[in-house]
Amino acid sequence: MDTLVELLTDPLLLPADPSRRLFWLFLISALLMASLVVTLRQKRFDLRYQLSQLFSTRYWLHPSNFKDGGLLFLNNGLKTLLLVPLLGSYFVGAIAFGTFLQKHLGDAPELPGSVLAVGIAYTLVFFIVEDLSRFLLHYCLHKYPWLWRFHQTHHSATNLTPLTVHRVHPVEMVLYNLRGFLVFSVVSGLFIYLFKGRVNGIDILGVDCLGFLFNLLGANLRHTPVWLSFGRLESYFISPAQHQLHHSIADQHRDKNFGTCFALWDKLAGSWLPAGTYQKLTYGVPGSALANTSIFPLASQRRRHRFFGGRAWRWLHNTQSTP
Ligand SMILES: [Zn+2]
Ligand SMILES: [Zn+2]
Repeated sequence: MDTLVELLTDPLLLPADPSRRLFWLFLISALLMASLVVTLRQKRFDLRYQLSQLFSTRYWLHPSNFKDGGLLFLNNGLKTLLLVPLLGSYFVGAIAFGTFLQKHLGDAPELPGSVLAVGIAYTLVFFIVEDLSRFLLHYCLHKYPWLWRFHQTHHSATNLTPLTVHRVHPVEMVLYNLRGFLVFSVVSGLFIYLFKGRVNGIDILGVDCLGFLFNLLGANLRHTPVWLSFGRLESYFISPAQHQLHHSIADQHRDKNFGTCFALWDKLAGSWLPAGTYQKLTYGVPGSALANTSIFPLASQRRRHRFFGGRAWRWLHNTQSTP
């Protein structure tokens, strides 16, 4: 019974968790940045207009949002019941990888570096590898048709809100968590092997400081209609407007801007697209009425529907166009 209550209340506590993008401070910083963007675009501060946009029922009660919320609860439940017991603590993976290196490579060479210097190096390397791994997985989710079937769930959002970050197919949620486990284990294990007791990441409120900064600087605007472009800085960092282009159904925006923070990966892959000036975008999956996404892509449609119930199946897999 306690577990059930926990499963139902956990997602409601996300605004209290500094390690999550929906942490209250990140929501407030995004709100302030959104207000600044609108003020600059309109060349005046119109509080009445901004409040009417912020509390628009058309935006917050859009049918697309309910699926975002549903998947947040579903994925949270699956993660708590399946993934956490399976993966255990991420530190176990790091210790295991460090021990593996020690066993196969022998003692690490004596490397110089104060605790602070090692901490800065570890924080930077971890953030860069984390960002690269997110890019690679996102790239594969688009390029391999059997993975795209799962990733379509995220792209089927026709209205972007900060909750849309949680609108992912359970298979994609598992893939992202396995990726996170692998990256943490390898990077932390390597640093533990090389620097032993000198590995201390630089934290803010117990959260990796660069991830914290990324979220503080408007990451929530990636899934909103607020057009925040970084201008020339987009050559280095992916802006919220660039991620909105990634969600656009227009042909010229397809398979662009896979990155989370750094633009370098998209530049190397030829998928970087600057946001440019404001564009009105339509979000969703092109031709989603014909989309056929599946948890078991090889099983027949008919069999799936018989086993899982057609309505629930279609809700999860976008076999119908979203409103
Ligand atoms: Zn995508
Ligand atoms: Zn997105």
